[in-house]
Amino acid sequence: MKQKILVIEDNEQNRYLVTYLLEANGYEVAAAKDGREGIALASSLQPALILLDIQLPGMDGYLVAQALRQNPALDGVPIVAVTSYAMVGDRERVLAAGCSGYIEKPINPDTFLAEVETHLPDRLAPAGGVS
Ligand code: MN
Repeated sequence: MKQKILVIEDNEQNRYLVTYLLEANGYEVAAAKDGREGIALASSLQPALILLDIQLPGMDGYLVAQALRQNPALDGVPIVAVTSYAMVGDRERVLAAGCSGYIEKPINPDTFLAEVETHLPDRLAPAGGVS
């Protein structure tokens, strides 16, 4: 079964790149252009993971993460912030808002998928066991 990933990102190029990388690797992707759309989609889709841009128009990603975390139906769904903010303290702020992790922009196509998958809850254990 394909796992669904919700991407909340206002920048069209980033949305396209992230969607492409995920779909090329077998994930089903739903995309939202802003926080309100993302919050509504998260409720209806029940995604396995949410990728959340922090710089969004209107409601920023911190507020979106807090709102998502208030929805009990999304308990256990990881929210991974994707942001170019690289200042000291931003990581802590992202985690405090309810995100489970952080991927830095610009997105690196060679490592992006592996970074996302470290946050997926239903990963199968590697065939060889723990290495
Ligand atoms: Mn943005």
